[in-house]
Amino acid sequence: MHVIIMGPPGSGKGTQAKLIAGKYHIPQIATGDILREAVGGGLAPGLETKVYMTRGELVPDEVVIGIIEGRVTQGNCGRGFLLDGFPRTLDQANALEGMLGKRGLTIDHVINIEIEMEELIRRLRGRRTCSKCGAMYHLLFNPPEKEGICDICGGSLYQRDDDKEGTIRSRFEVYSNQTEPVIQYYASQGLVRFINGVGKIDDIFFRIVEAIEDRKKYAKRRSHPS
Ligand code: AMP
Repeated sequence: MHVIIMGPPGSGKGTQAKLIAGKYHIPQIATGDILREAVGGGLAPGLETKVYMTRGELVPDEVVIGIIEGRVTQGNCGRGFLLDGFPRTLDQANALEGMLGKRGLTIDHVINIEIEMEELIRRLRGRRTCSKCGAMYHLLFNPPEKEGICDICGGSLYQRDDDKEGTIRSRFEVYSNQTEPVIQYYASQGLVRFINGVGKIDDIFFRIVEAIEDRKKYAKRRSHPS
């Protein structure tokens, strides 16, 4: 099963991606996480990667496409994969089609999480991450017991550079200029399910699973008409 999860920054796509990957036993491939890890470990191809990310701009297509190409051919992708944060441009979408096409594969589901802009800004501003174990908190919705300290491992919490006010705005701009056309592209192929991203994590997850199962039934009916 090959799934893409899309949604603007702060829509909760990373959280939902983990749940989907767990339910369907497929690896979650999150380009943002891979890039942050690479930059943190001094591994990223070119120091400029960090600069793009801090500014809220997209890392060049060739860098990200190279990462995905290496990743989707790994052994644990035999049952499929869940792409989180890729593709974000039409060129990335074309490259993905080429990679899958070579192997006779196609995208099965595109999930797009929808949320109002003001709500997204509120969410991003309060988001905090543990510098040691990566656990996520929110100053309003899920605060740690002790300010600035992770409940799980005692690590210190930090705010992602790209969650700061100025950068949030440019991430939205990038999203609407470069990534929304990708959603339209997949929508024109009838692949996208639009999911209301407001509500409890479990409720949103339920909506997503319903959409996936619904589409699976539809695909089955088309391949085995009665
Ligand atoms: P995310 O964690 O998905 O919000 O991604 C964080 C940052 O990583 C983005 O703002 C970009 O700078 C970079 N990034 C992640 N995925 C991509 C991608 N598919 N194409 C280009 N840049 C990306």
